[in-house]
Amino acid sequence: MERRYCEEKKEVVAIAKKAYAEKLMAGTSGNMSICCPEEGHVIITPSGYDYEIMEEKDIVVIDLEGNVIEGIHKPSSEWRMHAEIYKELPAVRAIVHTHSPYATSFAVLHQEIPLILIEMIPFLKGAVEVSPYAAQGSVEVGKNAVPVLERKNACLMANHGALAVGASLSGAYINSVYLEDAARIYHMARCVGTPVILEEPEKGE
Ligand SMILES: [Zn+2]
Repeated sequence: MERRYCEEKKEVVAIAKKAYAEKLMAGTSGNMSICCPEEGHVIITPSGYDYEIMEEKDIVVIDLEGNVIEGIHKPSSEWRMHAEIYKELPAVRAIVHTHSPYATSFAVLHQEIPLILIEMIPFLKGAVEVSPYAAQGSVEVGKNAVPVLERKNACLMANHGALAVGASLSGAYINSVYLEDAARIYHMARCVGTPVILEEPEKGE
């Protein structure tokens, strides 16, 4: 059988390992995917699998209803969140979900990360808002994040973790790095004083 999605699987493995090495994910937490909208397929990390030994053969291909098209493992337990975001937001082609510690600490506090750094404007599209809590693995995790991701490239999922999207997986990954960076700097600034918040740019600027 013709091997499909080789490039996508290779990219998912490479970026998953990079995110793990950068300590954006602990243990087997977190997940990421690429969407191929023409086929309606999602190339996604497997459920509960060690990033250090992950290879291309471990990556799972599902359709938007969760049927496994290809793969020897179960897809990530958060596949419904991924599918829901792809269904609702066609501009999103890749999703990176981590439990990166600084961003997740604000998700636990239900506190947004205000616009404090200029990089947050091009990469994250401004302040990072919190989406309401939903049970892990439920479609509501995705449904709750969609209204935020309609306007932004990142979102904090209440009592859960961080979410970043992009037109490519490398783009979504960079956004997740900037999200964690902004959260860490905001945390550090708040430890020693009161951060000055920038004004959100006008739409279309
Ligand atoms: Zn998670």
